Amino acid sequence: MDNTQFKKIKKTLFKKERLVFDHLNKNQKAGVFKFNEQYKQFLNQSKTERKAALQIIQAAKAKGFVDIDTLTTNQSSHIKKVYKVFQGRCVALAVIGKEPLISGANLIASHLDSPRLDLKQNPVYEDLSMGLMKTHYYGGIRKYHWLALPLALHGTIITSDNKTIDITIGDHPDDPVFTVTDLLPHLAGKIQADKKISDVFQGEKLNLISGSIPLGNDKEKDRFKLGVLNLLYEKYGLTEEDFISAEIEAVPAEKARDVGFDRSMIGSYGQDDRVCVYTSLEALLDTPSPHKTAIALFFDKEEIGSEGNSGAKSSFLEDLMSDLLFINGQDTGNRSLRKALINSSCLSADVNAAMDPDFKEVHEAMNAAKLGFGVCMTKFTGVAGKSGSSDASAEFVGKIRQIFNTNKIIWQTGELGKIDQGGGGTVAKFLAKFGMNVLDCGPALLSMHSPFEISSKADVYMTFLGYKAFYADNGK
Ligand code: MN
Ligand code: MN
Repeated sequence: MDNTQFKKIKKTLFKKERLVFDHLNKNQKAGVFKFNEQYKQFLNQSKTERKAALQIIQAAKAKGFVDIDTLTTNQSSHIKKVYKVFQGRCVALAVIGKEPLISGANLIASHLDSPRLDLKQNPVYEDLSMGLMKTHYYGGIRKYHWLALPLALHGTIITSDNKTIDITIGDHPDDPVFTVTDLLPHLAGKIQADKKISDVFQGEKLNLISGSIPLGNDKEKDRFKLGVLNLLYEKYGLTEEDFISAEIEAVPAEKARDVGFDRSMIGSYGQDDRVCVYTSLEALLDTPSPHKTAIALFFDKEEIGSEGNSGAKSSFLEDLMSDLLFINGQDTGNRSLRKALINSSCLSADVNAAMDPDFKEVHEAMNAAKLGFGVCMTKFTGVAGKSGSSDASAEFVGKIRQIFNTNKIIWQTGELGKIDQGGGGTVAKFLAKFGMNVLDCGPALLSMHSPFEISSKADVYMTFLGYKAFYADNGK
């Protein structure tokens, strides 16, 4: 066999790994950067699940979407674009397709919530002439990431007279911020050096520095705590008891930034999973008349197991589907709802871990996602032998692969880490229980679950194009 023949066979047989930036012309490259400017804006305005939900609703309304819960007759089939909100933090958008819903929808499901520090229900106290606030972390964090970092507070408080008060402090450059202190290296040796990381960084030590000017004179007790509470009362009318019925989140105050000399990456808090939120939102808004009904689902509570009435384990999707059947004058019986669900196809839109040049050892290089190599299909997630994963079928992965190849989407596949290294899950299995096909699909990130997660702008754009191609599919 001569060398030319060898090369030809190799070219035919081997799978091609494609770096997105190698395959973009000048115009496409400009398109990538333009798209990501808007994505950064979205990240900056979506620091919490509630804020992200608001952004989605605003964008949908601007494009003529109608609140499905305001449609009270079954004669609304002329309305093609609808949205549904549950408790201000679980959202769905739908564009009614040409085919009846009973033949299934094309769904993309992402999550709005990100790991963070929530204020406890009795948060305010004082210690050593300072006002402080206790937090309880939400989701999988590495606790040391949250030390010595400027933090903003975003929250919703229900007062005793049932008023809703929204607060945002620390987002504007002129705002004050809050912070969790860290130990100086000079004194850290003895108490930290030989300890396990879980002993060194403890959840009960994630307390926010919140003030240091007391109220009243030095004869009084609790005057630093009162100093903090008094400011909150003057500005928002809040009392200590109001924290009981409040959700106040401490999140990184920094805005999304370009990373690298070439500005090819984005560094930001909350890209898991707002990168999939934004790309699926834009894909849906760019899908005016699909064959199958196109639905974007934005869930809450994924980071704590998709629990609760706003998570993917809730009945939100069934409720939406029966609403969609109803407004289109179709049968809303249980059988029709089941068929609409089982005939649907779903991309579970979530991030994967990109192989890290400094921590290659936790990945298996042949099957790890890499930054810049396009949208990543993740056939299974889970831990210890795929446990807890929904594991997409060969048929469905094949179908998505065909859609992507036909539409020139640059894609890759990836596992979350080496076998038995750890693992994780997504909303996939909570949608698969309806019988629909589900595949995890989204960009890969570096420093996932940190306050500064890194994405490749090229991957973000490919994810958007991939989702759009999926929505446009006729299901044949
Ligand atoms: Mn996620
Ligand atoms: Mn996550």
